[in-house]
Amino acid sequence: MANIKDYKIATLGSHTALQILKGAKDEGFETICICQKGKERPYESYGVADEIILVDDFKDFFKIEQELMDKNAILIPHGSFVAYVGAENMMDIKAMYYGDKGILEWESDRSKEREWLLDAGIKVPRVFDKPEDIDRPVIVKFHGAHGGKGYFLANTPEEFYEHYEEYKGKKGHEEYVLQEYIVGVPVYTHYFYSPLTGELEIMGFDKRYESNADSIGRIAAKDQVDAGIKTTYTITGNVPIVLRESLLPQLFEMGENVVKASKKLVDKGLFGPFCLEGIIDPELNYFIFEVSARIVAGTNPYINGSPYTWLRYNEPMSTGRRLARDIKEAIESDRLDEVLG
Ligand code: AMP
Ligand code: AMP
Repeated sequence: MANIKDYKIATLGSHTALQILKGAKDEGFETICICQKGKERPYESYGVADEIILVDDFKDFFKIEQELMDKNAILIPHGSFVAYVGAENMMDIKAMYYGDKGILEWESDRSKEREWLLDAGIKVPRVFDKPEDIDRPVIVKFHGAHGGKGYFLANTPEEFYEHYEEYKGKKGHEEYVLQEYIVGVPVYTHYFYSPLTGELEIMGFDKRYESNADSIGRIAAKDQVDAGIKTTYTITGNVPIVLRESLLPQLFEMGENVVKASKKLVDKGLFGPFCLEGIIDPELNYFIFEVSARIVAGTNPYINGSPYTWLRYNEPMSTGRRLARDIKEAIESDRLDEVLG
């Protein structure tokens, strides 16, 4: 039988690396953390990395790729991984990689992502083709993963152009999407789909803790106007939530439909951890504005398991650990090919 001792689990030191490496160790793997020089402290302090490889910049990933291959390392992608290596360079990765790389093309392009979600029967916010069409509150989002930085709200075409002045001509701000602003609570649903068992699990939920969107309510509306404060959505952390139980059946169905639809898009389809990100309105409609086809940082509050993983596992089961277990089961049943993309 193939042995997990012949493999290592590796990831870039940021985002969910602590959780991924801890989970891998709990499953019996040796771990490698690729760190930017000067950013290695947490990975040493928490003792999650058996080995640390230092690079000047994450963009230098390809310079150390051969070293990872020599060590038989399996790479785990996460949000910073995609942000720093670049969605467009992911297909060039030759080292073993957990997940279907092809799906990243669908999650990183907002119009393709929308097509995928619509095909899965998911409710999505209305999108306006051009600023002149704005007839209700919209959220303006620039392309690429900026962690919510620079999003702004507009109610009319005039308001849009007034705000947009600030970004005009700035790199990364050429393209944007105008999405209906949904009034409700943000809920991010963390899923795990194992291609080995064919089963979909709900691992937990979070909401983001965003500056200054999450602090603006601390001052009176009049003061906000007087001080000219504009809402921004810079991600700073994540807050765990538990949902009304009667919503769960619908959420399982949504996750399953997204996986099913992904099989029409790429060879192996979406598998491993993924997340549906959206807003639940007062009528309990769940509008999804984004799908993340990899582990999300909202799983970080659950390194020791979430209320939902506790129901199923009776042992601490983070998303990072669940992922390592999938790899372990794949190795031990000679099905590793099925989880590598
Ligand atoms: P960082 O490694 O913290 O610079 O993050 C790189 C990218 O990953 C950011 O641009 C975000 O899009 C995403 N990211 C990092 N941390 C979080 C988080 N806690 N929640 C959601 N997204 C995150
Ligand atoms: P994103 O970077 O796409 O995950 O969005 C960042 C934040 O913007 C979310 O956590 C929400 O607070 C907010 N947001 C994004 N899209 C919408 C929307 N269509 N309606 C209301 N709020 C939104």
